[in-house]
Amino acid sequence: MVEKFRMEKMSTINWDDYFMSMVYLIASKSKDKRTHIGAVVVGPDNEIKSTGYNSFVRRLRDDIPERQEKPEKYFWFEHAERNAVYNATLIGTSLKGCKMYTNGIPCMDCARGIVQSGINEVIVDREWNNGNQGEDLEHSKRTLRMFEEVGVKVRYWEGKLLNIEKFRRGEVTEKAGSPVNSENNVEKMGNKLKIKIKKLHPEAIIPQYAHPGDAGMDLFSVEDLILHPGERVGVKTGISIELPENYVSLIWDKSGNALKSGIKTMAGVLDSGYRGEYIIVLINLSGKDFEIKKGQKVAQVLIQRVENPEIEEAGELTDSSRGETGFGASGAF
Ligand SMILES: [Zn+2]
Repeated sequence: MVEKFRMEKMSTINWDDYFMSMVYLIASKSKDKRTHIGAVVVGPDNEIKSTGYNSFVRRLRDDIPERQEKPEKYFWFEHAERNAVYNATLIGTSLKGCKMYTNGIPCMDCARGIVQSGINEVIVDREWNNGNQGEDLEHSKRTLRMFEEVGVKVRYWEGKLLNIEKFRRGEVTEKAGSPVNSENNVEKMGNKLKIKIKKLHPEAIIPQYAHPGDAGMDLFSVEDLILHPGERVGVKTGISIELPENYVSLIWDKSGNALKSGIKTMAGVLDSGYRGEYIIVLINLSGKDFEIKKGQKVAQVLIQRVENPEIEEAGELTDSSRGETGFGASGAF
């Protein structure tokens, strides 16, 4: 029974999450003390062609400490992406038409190798890549320019890494923040997440992002009401939203309402499991009545990913530079 459950769950991981998890697994073998990079090259049928991690070249002594230090290490280490390319040549495997999964935008040296080996798509971890700075940035600017010019597609992955240990223990439940997409409510078009919204009232307005790049979508009232000074009320929106697991709806103020009319939202966390009507709790902090008309914007909703960490009780916490200095201790306003 347990076996069967496990197998079913494992088969639902998408290819991007699967290969990106492999990138980190492969990176773990790196001899570089500071940076662990992995690369996986995959053919058009998702067959693995080659892998590589950043490390010393074959047969080189890896016990000489100076070779670990910058800038000396740059002479001795080979990068993961090029190692993946070289590992393919070692066994006579063509990478033509393949894609490469790796942590961040490759450096120009690897990028040239990628282009020349015939790889036509590179998928990188957006979160890792955001940490790029300094010389890395100088490289990645040029890499992106070159990839664009020669037609190598770049895609930013934002999925979830596989927790292998959980599979081993058979603990792959949806609640545990598993990397598995729940079959019924996540539908991904490329990297775009799709959310289902249901009208519970014929006059409800389905929220939309007003402009590309907007953080929030407006929520509209389906009723007329008056909010007296100091009063709080639940305003019906006439909609319910189905969120994928590990996502949350956060209800925020409309800055116009807050600034001009002293209207504030309260209790704005709606979990992914909630399927009821979105009711916006508003409080009137002004001295005047606030009139809400049907169809009026009352708040905005931000849909965000959340982590569900495992909680363990600990006798001691790791020291930090901040230590026990409290709230507001980071400087005067
Ligand atoms: Zn490189």
